[in-house]
Amino acid sequence: MTGSFVTRDGSNWMPEYLTGIDGKTCIGCGRCFKVCSRDVMHLYGADEAGEILGICDDEDDDFDGELSRMIMVVDQEGRCIGCGACVRVCPKNCQVHIAADKLASCAGV
Ligand code: SF4
Ligand code: SF4
Repeated sequence: MTGSFVTRDGSNWMPEYLTGIDGKTCIGCGRCFKVCSRDVMHLYGADEAGEILGICDDEDDDFDGELSRMIMVVDQEGRCIGCGACVRVCPKNCQVHIAADKLASCAGV
């Protein structure tokens, strides 16, 4: 269902959902995670080639020496409310956001 979205005063509001983060440019700074109220993304470890090793729930875990860098991954995208807070704090412009009406038309609903 496409639906329509409004703010509290009834003004039109179009959510811009976070659908992905470019793992090549993300520096894993964590700023987006800190401002997100919906637990949509998490830090993951990646090896030199950029392959995801797993979620970083223990900051001392080096994934058996394979850890090269941390990147943010959108692993709960269905939780996003499209508030746009995360895109405003990203220093690398590596997030992909899609407006709710576009997403609905992509999904054919
Ligand atoms: S748009 Fe808002 S709810 Fe969605 S991931 Fe970004 S900060 Fe979280
Ligand atoms: S704010 Fe941008 S660069 Fe920092 S972790 Fe989030 S997506 Fe990556």
